[in-house]
Amino acid sequence: MPILRLAVPSPLRRSFDYLPPPDLNDIALAQLQPGVRIEAPFGSRRVIGYLIELVDDSDLPADSLKAAIRVLDETPLISDRLLQLARWSAAYYHHPLGEVLCALFPKRLREGLEHQPLGDPGWQLSTRGKGLPDNPLPRSPRQAQAIKVLAEMGATSATSLAQAGISAQIMRALRDKGLVESTVIKRSRPPVARATGLSLTGEQTEVLHAIHQSSQGFACHLLDGITGSGKTEVYLQLIDECLAREQQALVLIPEIGLTPQTLQRFQQRFGIDIAVLHSGLGEAERYRAWEAARTGSTAIVIGTRSAVFTPLSRPGLIIVDEEHDASYKQQDGFRYWARDVAVKRAQLHDCPVVLGSATPSLESLYNALQGRYQHHRLTQRAGDSALPAVDIIDLRRQSLRAGLSNDLIDAVAQCLDKGEQCLLFLNRRGYAPSLQCHDCGWVAQCASCDARMTVHRRQQRLRCHHCGAERPLPNDCESCHSHNIAPIGLGTEQTEQCLHQLFPQWPTYRVDSDSMQGRHAMQELVDTINRGAPCILLGTQMLTKGHHFPRVSLVAVIDADALLFSADFRGEERMAQLLTQVAGRAGREDIPGRVLVQTHYPDHPALHCVLDANYAHLAKRMLAQRQASGLPPSGVLIIVRSDCADGAWGEQFLQRLRTDCEPSLGRGCQLVGPLPAPMQRRAGRYRSQLLLTAPNRASAHNAATQMVSAAEALPSRKQLKWTIDIDPLDVS
Ligand code: ADP
Ligand code: ZN
Ligand code: ZN
Repeated sequence: MPILRLAVPSPLRRSFDYLPPPDLNDIALAQLQPGVRIEAPFGSRRVIGYLIELVDDSDLPADSLKAAIRVLDETPLISDRLLQLARWSAAYYHHPLGEVLCALFPKRLREGLEHQPLGDPGWQLSTRGKGLPDNPLPRSPRQAQAIKVLAEMGATSATSLAQAGISAQIMRALRDKGLVESTVIKRSRPPVARATGLSLTGEQTEVLHAIHQSSQGFACHLLDGITGSGKTEVYLQLIDECLAREQQALVLIPEIGLTPQTLQRFQQRFGIDIAVLHSGLGEAERYRAWEAARTGSTAIVIGTRSAVFTPLSRPGLIIVDEEHDASYKQQDGFRYWARDVAVKRAQLHDCPVVLGSATPSLESLYNALQGRYQHHRLTQRAGDSALPAVDIIDLRRQSLRAGLSNDLIDAVAQCLDKGEQCLLFLNRRGYAPSLQCHDCGWVAQCASCDARMTVHRRQQRLRCHHCGAERPLPNDCESCHSHNIAPIGLGTEQTEQCLHQLFPQWPTYRVDSDSMQGRHAMQELVDTINRGAPCILLGTQMLTKGHHFPRVSLVAVIDADALLFSADFRGEERMAQLLTQVAGRAGREDIPGRVLVQTHYPDHPALHCVLDANYAHLAKRMLAQRQASGLPPSGVLIIVRSDCADGAWGEQFLQRLRTDCEPSLGRGCQLVGPLPAPMQRRAGRYRSQLLLTAPNRASAHNAATQMVSAAEALPSRKQLKWTIDIDPLDVS
């Protein structure tokens, strides 16, 4: 008897063998295909697993195997290619396949609910109904009419039947006689409307031409174009061609909730339904979008990170916008990079993939240098706008009000006076990052983290931004009871208050995760801003992600110093990307833009890449540094992390792991650690890490395989949580 090999959602990196469900007949068994969902007993629970393969023999004796409970799908809901992508991801990221597969399905399917096709409820004749004689049911003329309609029309929606005067009651009566059965009527695919795009600039034309010239099948294109150079227009034209070929386009963007404009632009251009997938959706909406993409009833799918796994029936193009964005990296559980999975997926589907950014990641630039990606550049702004002028405000010996220098305040006043808008960037929310006693030096600390509590003045609370702990703002020092306590440092709430005082006649809008609660908050604000009245926008990173505000002419970075000094190896790259993106928000249309950067370090080389609008130059220097230190993208980095109630356990565990693996590592592989994580204690848990650098992918993969099996064999793993992170975002 064949044996079902299942991937099951469990932390164990292995598959599980089951006997077929007892009531499954041989024909059904022979027709089972990999990817179908199967319910099976697992310990004391029941789980929904996924069929990986049918095998003849198990490593376990047949009498020790349990039988699966039931098969949920007649045919797999995901394609073979998508299953292949899941297998590749599980192997590459050393994550259990069962958990990877879970990321492919909407919750209701993961939990074992029946697959419901999309469409309208309707009715069709049952086998018995089809076998009726010519003039059936002479004593029920209305039922007879219904039978006649279904015989002529085939399956018909309840709405159409009602329009023909056939009520639900009649249909139920027929159902009770076993003559009709309910069904779902699929909506027909709407016709694709070709859209007329803008007439392209010379550079855009060249890029499109180059993309056409390359392979019809898989090719990876890096679209490296300054902010406002018309990358989106290039995407739109590529999508238009994809739709004309009757294929589907998958577009990944870093954020949807925050950038409703992007979606609007796609909708306006194509005028068709677009399936949208992001974390803010309700389950029913998510299911509809997923199913529409899967069945091909929608031709464009736009989503954030996890949408990279959306099933598609006719994939033809993948686009990753703002490909450098850190939100493409999942930071817990299944730690994948959606950008890299997208490239692999395009390869499996044999279709092109376009990675676009004004500030490409060093990874993608490196791949382009190596000839793996084709590098296309857009160096000029499209339309009428020019790149903004950038000036540095040297903060040394200046008096500041809530972080604002006089020069900046003057510039804001001028901008508003001219009837324009300004955008001030400060990447710290709350009122102040700490609360200190002036008499004894006490600082409000989080009880469960190695971190200070942030002052939130409006709510009169202290909050930890790392674990979410909060408590009321104290009136006196918790150590010496002095009243002489004060907030130290700067956050958006404080600067907002000051801006209200300085410019009472104009509105100041604060944009951070505290102020932008609720699904529509950002959309409403964007609408307000785009009505164009003068105003001040003050916000964190949230404001920098791909927004297009036509009336913003002044952009200022309030505290560039906070970005300059980071302990992480990607610190400088992140900073250059962030500053370039912030600066790119200025002067997007006909009004000339200006960028001001406040710093105490006006000569810092990293600032000059923004000054000279020369990210490429800085990127080259950073790549050379990475190469010299063997760090990504020239080397491969892997981190094994431990997280436990006692710091010593984690260090011992990782030390054992090191001792076990070190002798058999490939040439050029290096282990560093165990070391405490930069913030060792977080939410009451102690975190340590072991770093591995490898000279190439193959030896990194081997080393990771060894470390995973060594870790799984260590008895002390039971005292703690350990994880492996392939291509980690940062060393934290
Ligand atoms: P990016 O995605 O590179 O930031 P966008 O595609 O958003 O750039 O383009 C920036 C602005 O330039 C938009 O207002 C867009 O409508 C306009 N634009 C883009 N391409 C053209 C073109 N070929 N002709 C005129 N305007 C264009
Ligand atoms: Zn004190
Ligand atoms: Zn905390």
